[in-house]
Amino acid sequence: MEVRAYAVKDAKSPLAPFKVERREPGPHDVQIQILYAGICHSDLHQARDDWGRSIYPMVPGHEIIGRVVKVGDQVKKLKAGDIAGVGCMVDSCRECSACQADQEQMCEKGGATWTYNGRERVSGLPTGAPTYGGYCEQIVVEERFTVKVPESLDLKAAAPLLCAGITTYSPLRQWKVGPGQKVGVIGLGGLGHMGIKFAKAFGAHVVMITTSPDKGKDATRLGADEVLLSRDEATMAAHGGSFDFLLNTIPVGHDVNPYMRLLKRYSTMVMVGVLTPMELSGGSVIAGRKSIAGSSIGGMAETQEMIDFCAKHNIVSDIEMINIQSVNEAYERMLKNDVKYRFVIDIASLRSAA
Ligand code: NAP
Ligand code: ZN
Repeated sequence: MEVRAYAVKDAKSPLAPFKVERREPGPHDVQIQILYAGICHSDLHQARDDWGRSIYPMVPGHEIIGRVVKVGDQVKKLKAGDIAGVGCMVDSCRECSACQADQEQMCEKGGATWTYNGRERVSGLPTGAPTYGGYCEQIVVEERFTVKVPESLDLKAAAPLLCAGITTYSPLRQWKVGPGQKVGVIGLGGLGHMGIKFAKAFGAHVVMITTSPDKGKDATRLGADEVLLSRDEATMAAHGGSFDFLLNTIPVGHDVNPYMRLLKRYSTMVMVGVLTPMELSGGSVIAGRKSIAGSSIGGMAETQEMIDFCAKHNIVSDIEMINIQSVNEAYERMLKNDVKYRFVIDIASLRSAA
């Protein structure tokens, strides 16, 4: 099956029309007509080879919502006509201890197969043909790596839940964020705005920590109880030693020590953004027996749990819809922190792509 897509051909080129070959659905596969695809900052990092492991041509997109066209005869969770979601991974070994613990993103056999910029599995290892993501008309994915999305959710605004949603939900759950805690979310972008919504829904006192003075009003509207400007040293000092938990979504290497000083003793800052080197002084963790940790998306079972939580509590992303033809402009705006708070591509616009 040949379908329309948008791809980058190298780290310097813009996204442009491209054709992708999708497999015919096998017995465990779900064939999905993609309706909406969110734009994650990871799409930009990988399109531009920020992490030094990009495979070109690349079709980004791992925040995918679509309608099921066809399912294989062994598929139980979904049927034709249902709404399905696909996130950052499309396969894993299924046998290692991580996969068996529903943490496929940590698969011990070569890692998970990423939705794009990954490789199909051959003999259990991700060494085969490149995978292509959601800036595309259709995708075919094994049932285990899909979630069922209730139609009661605003489907456009639900697309970002598949990455920004689970990436913030999972660490907030893992570190048991809840009532009576002062929780800081650092960086008000796609992940950060979902972090505020979940931390608030879990009952915490939420503080938005931002470099952008003009985002204060939005942070409050999204559920933050307080807003802290990270470049205001006096206010940062006044909040020193007062946080139970910090979720750091800054996408680039930075000095983490001012943030570590915000934590109470024994508390943790979880990094989800930075893959490149960052500055950490030993004193920042030693003095208060503090921890710095990391977190990568979440497993498929937890992704379904997060979607169901969102349906129950009516949580979706705040989005700006674009046509695929505006995707390069959206990337430029994301680089300038000018996203409120997630771009979502209307995939129907691919039909008018050249
Ligand atoms: P985004 O929408 O671009 O938001 C990032 C926010 O970080 C910005 O809005 C800005 O917020 C702040 N920021 C940007 N540059 C900064 C700088 N130099 N110093 C301080 N703050 C800065 O990005 P996103 O889609 O939320 O993604 C955030 C990061 O998480 C990316 O690196 C992405 O690749 C990564 N990610 C990780 C996972 C995972 O599983 N771990 C999953 C998805 C994404 P303010 O204006 O409020 O300061
Ligand atoms: Zn993402």
